[in-house]
Amino acid sequence: MNALQNNIIAQKAALPAGSKILAVVKANAYGNGLVPVAQAALRAGATGTCVAILDEGLELRDQGVTSLILVLGITPVEYAHVAAENNISLTVGDLDWLQQYHHLAQVNNWTVPLKVHLGLDTGMGRIGFTSVDQLHQAVELLKQPEFEFEGIFTHFATADSEDHTYFQKQVARWNKMIDSLKVKPPYVHMANSATGLWHQDTITANTVRMGISMYGLNPSGRELPLSLPIKPVSSLITSISFVKQLRAGESVSYGATYTAQEDEWLATLPVGYADGYERRMTGFHVLVDGQICPIAGRVCMDQMMVRLPQKYPVGTPVVLFGRSGDKEITATDVADYAGTINYEILTNISRRVRRIYVDK
Ligand SMILES: *Cc1c(COP(=O)(O)O)cnc(C)c1O
Repeated sequence: MNALQNNIIAQKAALPAGSKILAVVKANAYGNGLVPVAQAALRAGATGTCVAILDEGLELRDQGVTSLILVLGITPVEYAHVAAENNISLTVGDLDWLQQYHHLAQVNNWTVPLKVHLGLDTGMGRIGFTSVDQLHQAVELLKQPEFEFEGIFTHFATADSEDHTYFQKQVARWNKMIDSLKVKPPYVHMANSATGLWHQDTITANTVRMGISMYGLNPSGRELPLSLPIKPVSSLITSISFVKQLRAGESVSYGATYTAQEDEWLATLPVGYADGYERRMTGFHVLVDGQICPIAGRVCMDQMMVRLPQKYPVGTPVVLFGRSGDKEITATDVADYAGTINYEILTNISRRVRRIYVDK
């Protein structure tokens, strides 16, 4: 079974029977490749996918994905009919937007209903309704024929934290807004990965938006232990492009900041910060043949050098994150060194890095 499938099944097994999963595939599926990941997630049991912007949804439709696609961000109202025509569901966060669409639909005689998920801002402070009154007006407006009320959701700011105070405050607001509705739409969703991992008992909804946990990474970094048997989906692997022996006293890379203390073997790798392996990773390490090899000198745009324990031939695989022998570097390890979160390490991997899909 592949890791992505394993992770979706693990999350589903922890939820009440009949719960649905929406696979979050925004930002090129967290760097892993939009279309192949969406297709794999749907095969593994996800009901639909979430993207950030309309263009990502259109790419999925162009590539033949027919199931539910929800745009999580706000789409400019003048493009919304493109979503309707392509059966792409949109997030709506205020009444104005709905009224504008209602007006445009009448003027232009749009007949294909636009599927809407109402976003509720319970404390994330990003997008969504905050007032119960406005929410009820929106629900009324959604009865018009140019709309279909498909979903309602919120998003948590601190579901990955040990301190539950703020999370509980958001849950209370969510419950109050949801309980005030006479009719609920088919998709009610409050859980991101962290909520699905650590707040299963609190979920009063039928759908989980699975993002980073689907990719097998811990949304909290290291703060909370994983509660499900998920495993990392992706590795970043290159291979040695050039090998040479460095004499004691010789220096490496821009600024000549690294100087060999003794004769040593040095490998050049065809990867650098333009591939998304940041310059600030200078000083970190990679894995070659199950051994930790320090990065020698500064990471360049397209290449970097590492110190080898012995000579290895050109073409030898080199792991930047992933497993090698009994050693592992995780995207979280890379993130810690770079002073960021694992999400950013994945999404930074640039276009020219070839994505290869294997069942493992
Ligand atoms: C990105 C995003 C998610 C996924 O978040 P994870 O932490 O990766 O699970 C879920 N919901 C919304 C609204 C998002 O923007």
